[in-house]
Amino acid sequence: MSEAYDLVVIGAGSGGVRAARMAANYGAKVAIIEEYRIGGTCVIRGCVPKKLYVYASRFKDSFEVAASFGWQVDAHFDWPTLVANKDKEIARLEAAYVAGLEKPGVEIIRDRAEIVDAQTVRTVKGARTLSTRYILVATGAKPVIPDIPGREFGISSNEAFDLKKLPHSILIEGGGYVGVEFATIFAGLGVHTTLVYRGTCVLRGFDEDLRQGLDMGLQARGIRVIYETDVRALRKEGEDIVVSFSDGVDAPFGAVMFATGRSPNVDGFGLEAAGVRLNPIGAVAVDAYSKTSVPSIYAVGDVTGRSALTPVAIREGAAVAETLFNNNPIAVDHSLIGTAVFAEPEIGTIGLTEAEATTHGDIDVYLTRFRPMMNTLSDKADRMMLKLITLKDGGKVLGVHIIGPSAAEMIQIAAIALGMGATKADFDRAMAMHPTAAEELVTFKAPTYRVRGGVRV
Ligand SMILES: Cc1cc2nc3c(=O)[nH]c(=O)nc-3n(C[C@H](O)[C@H](O)[C@H](O)COP(=O)(O)OP(=O)(O)OC[C@H]3O[C@@H](n4cnc5c(N)ncnc54)[C@H](O)[C@@H]3O)c2cc1C
Repeated sequence: MSEAYDLVVIGAGSGGVRAARMAANYGAKVAIIEEYRIGGTCVIRGCVPKKLYVYASRFKDSFEVAASFGWQVDAHFDWPTLVANKDKEIARLEAAYVAGLEKPGVEIIRDRAEIVDAQTVRTVKGARTLSTRYILVATGAKPVIPDIPGREFGISSNEAFDLKKLPHSILIEGGGYVGVEFATIFAGLGVHTTLVYRGTCVLRGFDEDLRQGLDMGLQARGIRVIYETDVRALRKEGEDIVVSFSDGVDAPFGAVMFATGRSPNVDGFGLEAAGVRLNPIGAVAVDAYSKTSVPSIYAVGDVTGRSALTPVAIREGAAVAETLFNNNPIAVDHSLIGTAVFAEPEIGTIGLTEAEATTHGDIDVYLTRFRPMMNTLSDKADRMMLKLITLKDGGKVLGVHIIGPSAAEMIQIAAIALGMGATKADFDRAMAMHPTAAEELVTFKAPTYRVRGGVRV
């Protein structure tokens, strides 16, 4: 027998949970179907555990500078303690998510969902049939593991959080944000870490100064970075995994992690049979209101391949609930999305890169590099960089790029100013707060250089 709903959400991650809760609060009858754990990637094996491990790894740097402030620290790291405490916190958050869904009356179904047709969803184990006015696909994305011999010996970020023991060494393949974040996590926890990437520098698509700054920061932490190379095969030898690289070198590692991208979760649950079209990158194609090619089926979050970030999925999920159940159609604005990379050093960035900005006219670039005050009593050589890119005519701020301590926190605030269309004069009007690193953003005098017609002058 089929049960009738207003909304059936597939996937209880960032986007699905927000849409389900809001729709139920607006009086809709809602079911959410999740095959793994409530909370999705971000809570269970993404942003949250990642940031906890980043905190764990940063103690190494703190202990190193502690001596320069007179502290003597004799520190030892215990991986099982970190994993167990992380598990406790994730379980607490998952329970909070469950409570947040149950309070407005969302029915949680722990099963795998399949779409039968435009208005019917089936559960795989429970064999329930749910008929519904709308379906929301919020199935996220999954790690891509290269199709090479021995791939089964490697892990992805999914497994990296729960390794039985910390390996003596690790090879991470991939130069995106997941790769560099895990490289600094493992290196900070004392693992000999190598990063291999087929490109010429980490973080493709980011501003060049951020890329170069991070490359130097990784190497300064003892991370071996190998460019223009990839992994061709893995084989097990005793406890180790021997990696064959594209340059002909073979080398053993305690663990191998692939951070070679994520692909939208679109397979095996009836999307195409229901007539939902995919876009050229294999993600669910949606309009500005997250509606798919089937008018009763919507999709939000990573499965749509727009911007794979938790706050974006949440915003998209909320907009669908507003559109469908509050008579308030909302198209999410995907311009000006700030991004953090919680590597060491940390990156925060918003707006156009210098290369992108030059296509908008002549620009002024304000740039400063200095040692963070925290390091000035020690011989730690890390440098921080703040970069402001403005239009020469009118001074509109096009981009802010920061690498160094608390970069992400600063960019979150800068995002408000950029969203309001702030100019250099607006930044200058703010009284500096001293001594901070962020004060540099409001005390730049003359441009460091100008780019006229694409040429630096
Ligand atoms: C290691 C890592 C670190 C990250 N760090 C950050 C960060 O610092 N900041 C940030 O903003 N973003 C970060 N992200 C990205 C962020 O986690 C995602 O953008 C976000 O979780 C996307 O939410 P979603 O709702 O689209 O999908 P998800 O949160 O992935 O949820 C999808 C859910 O659908 C379920 N599902 C799939 N198919 C079915 C089915 N057929 N039936 C039932 N259930 C199904 C899955 O089990 C999953 O729980 C990180 C991601 C990773 C992997």
